[in-house]
Amino acid sequence: MISLDNVTMQYKASTRPALRDLSLEIDKGEFAFLIGPSGSGKSTFFRLLLKEDKPTSGEVRVGDFRVDKLPGRKVPKLRQSIGCVFQDFRLLQQKSVADNVAFALEVIGKPSSTIRKVVPDVLDYVGLAGKADRMPTELSGGEMQRVAIARAIANRPLVLLADEPTGNLDPDTSEEIVDVLDRVNRRGTTVVMATHDRHIVDSMRRRVLEFNLGRLVRDEDHGVYGVG
Ligand code: ADP
Ligand code: ADP
Repeated sequence: MISLDNVTMQYKASTRPALRDLSLEIDKGEFAFLIGPSGSGKSTFFRLLLKEDKPTSGEVRVGDFRVDKLPGRKVPKLRQSIGCVFQDFRLLQQKSVADNVAFALEVIGKPSSTIRKVVPDVLDYVGLAGKADRMPTELSGGEMQRVAIARAIANRPLVLLADEPTGNLDPDTSEEIVDVLDRVNRRGTTVVMATHDRHIVDSMRRRVLEFNLGRLVRDEDHGVYGVG
């Protein structure tokens, strides 16, 4: 589903590469944690998958997309197959819970009949049935992240990228959010989650990819957070 082949990303010639000669594969349906200190290349990895940056060398694939060679006109299609959630939720503050999800489907041209059906389904799926008409300011952090996940999965993406999705949440709420991501994964969506949350990684025992200084330094199938 995701494959990198000898990928190097050097933002500026004079600096150390953000990723060096990185090769890895993540299969369809996998759940992988991406760990490593700040500056180790985790966000760069996500940006390359989304074609927000182009690698200096190497090959990047997501599903059937050869991302590093993808022409600009096809980038929107790529991004529609990748759902994203972030530490800071990134909800539209002027729109209700339902409209945040609906808007994401409108901008990619889904018919309103589909949107009317999918929005309540996904809100139910993430545990927000009954909160459709709330505004983001009326929600807890955990609820905001549920909205962000609903929005990210509404189009049934191939891959869900979560960049420190529990970074602003207390431990109990973090567990609930990871539980939602786990359910999304068990329905077939490949999930990659960058995190500094040792407790979550240790309790899930899923694949662990550890980056350090732009290199993949550990890749374990049922890994723990480790000494890092
Ligand atoms: P992480 O997400 O693990 O914190 P990043 O991928 O953000 O790591 O950063 C990896 C390295 O690349 C760091 O040294 C960072 O300073 C550098 N870097 C990231 N983005 C840019 C950019 N847009 N321009 C120049 N250097 C960057
Ligand atoms: P359930 O059987 O739990 O009620 P449904 O099959 O009715 O779930 O799905 C509810 C909605 O949630 C679907 O319409 C779909 O949009 C969304 N959904 C569920 N699982 C996923 C998933 N893994 N990836 C993307 N979307 C999903």
